[in-house]
Amino acid sequence: VVTIDGIAALIQDVPDFPKPGVTFKDITPVLARPDAFQAVVDAMVASAPEGIDVVCGMEARGFIFGAPVALALGASFVPVRKSGKLPRDTVESTYDLEYGTQTLAVHTDAIRAGDRVLIVDDVLATGGTVAATADLVHRLGGSLVAVTVLMELAFLAPRERLEWRDVDLITSLI
Ligand code: 5GP
Repeated sequence: VVTIDGIAALIQDVPDFPKPGVTFKDITPVLARPDAFQAVVDAMVASAPEGIDVVCGMEARGFIFGAPVALALGASFVPVRKSGKLPRDTVESTYDLEYGTQTLAVHTDAIRAGDRVLIVDDVLATGGTVAATADLVHRLGGSLVAVTVLMELAFLAPRERLEWRDVDLITSLI
């Protein structure tokens, strides 16, 4: 059995990536261990509220965790992608990065009014990615019922970037 402490120990700090002064949390060693990967998915599934209709995973590492969580919950998996990647009608949400902006998109018909939605990602850093995804869910009439991440970088204060109604929905395994 892999514990949360065991999973945390697998995540590697990579200094000065992607640029000087930033320490990147590399989760790929977790994926390399099927027992650890399975334990993360199981914990995310266990933390999910009842009756999830849609799991949204954000490009790219949100796909890795979101897809198996959706299958385990018997829910739809919806990829949230960078602008320009999805082929049909989309809604988009733009947010500020340290330098410049990022735009995320989802197919307009991927979430229906009243759907109960779970957002899954690997790392919650400044919160911009989750905030933009929550915005897309709300604009399509979805009901955001939970946000689950493997790791939250609390020192970046991601919750301050989220709407008050969304903050209480966050579960971070680490
Ligand atoms: P935020 O929008 O919260 O600043 O950044 C979160 C997004 O960027 C997530 O989709 C996550 O995959 C990625 N990200 C930001 N920092 C890190 C990091 O240190 N490690 C990993 N694995 N992903 C990160």
